[in-house]
Amino acid sequence: MDCKIMDGRAAAKEAKEEIRSKVEAVKAKGVEPALTVVLVGDDPASKVYAEQKRKNCESVGISFSFHQLPGSTSEEELLALVDKLNSDPSVHGILVEMPLPKHISNERVQAAIDPDKDVDGSNPANLGRLVSGLPSLRPCTPQGAMYLMEKHGVDLSGKHAVVVGRSTIVGKPVAMLLLEKNATVTICHSRTSNLAEVIKSADVVVAAVGRPEMITGDMIKPGAVVVDVGINSIPDGIVGDVDYSSAQKVAGYLSPVPGGVGPLTIAMLLDNVVTSAERALLKP
Ligand code: NDP
Repeated sequence: MDCKIMDGRAAAKEAKEEIRSKVEAVKAKGVEPALTVVLVGDDPASKVYAEQKRKNCESVGISFSFHQLPGSTSEEELLALVDKLNSDPSVHGILVEMPLPKHISNERVQAAIDPDKDVDGSNPANLGRLVSGLPSLRPCTPQGAMYLMEKHGVDLSGKHAVVVGRSTIVGKPVAMLLLEKNATVTICHSRTSNLAEVIKSADVVVAAVGRPEMITGDMIKPGAVVVDVGINSIPDGIVGDVDYSSAQKVAGYLSPVPGGVGPLTIAMLLDNVVTSAERALLKP
């Protein structure tokens, strides 16, 4: 079986070209798409992520600003900043780096972001809009998984898609996006009986579990499309939720880890910022 590897780095490059053109079109109409990232404390990993976002924004012409607040910032102070950014018309996307210090509620802060500026797509209002089929800002990683399949010409209509994982950030929204493309969707989780059998019945598998290499080639239907969202650190490096070497002998399409869905997550964040700026143009 000839397995096509779905190269996320190449797809992200393509996505960024498309985003750059959209940014130029919005700028030509007098609006400069802008992302603001807020970091509370000085977690080194979060700082690296914020820096990656800055570089990516700059590479497509999106303006970027950064607020770093001390770790001692209270929830009220953070909510006041979110409020200020919500009402600032020059800001189109607000992203608060998670996790926040323990004394601040991630959920309360996430929910306080204006849904129209919630470029992470994880505000409950945006998830509700997604389920209702209304225009929304969609969560970046699920959107990245969909983009990767679309760029590889995967036709989802009528296909059986099995999503392994039911988190609010990946599993549930990706299931909704697959449904929107007319796939027949099964969502699995830690209590699913006969997981291997369910996966084996899938034309499309999206793995978002967080367990290194748990989905092996013998669980995959020959020719199936396998999108591996998992990012797991093991002593040898980073691996996905899918056992790459056995899966590639069976799958028709397979996304690698690293270099699959990961690079698309940030590209989809940029896309959400532009979408938000485009919608701002339409507001009275
Ligand atoms: P969560 O831990 O929030 O959710 C994991 C899901 O997997 C849960 O629904 C859980 O079920 C299910 N699960 C756990 N063990 C099993 C099992 N043995 N069999 C079946 N299902 C199981 O993780 P996330 O959704 O946040 O992330 C999933 C993976 O994706 C992680 O590796 C993460 O690092 C990666 N990720 C990658 C991103 C990217 O940019 N590429 C972005 C976000 C995440 P239950 O609900 O029953 O507990």
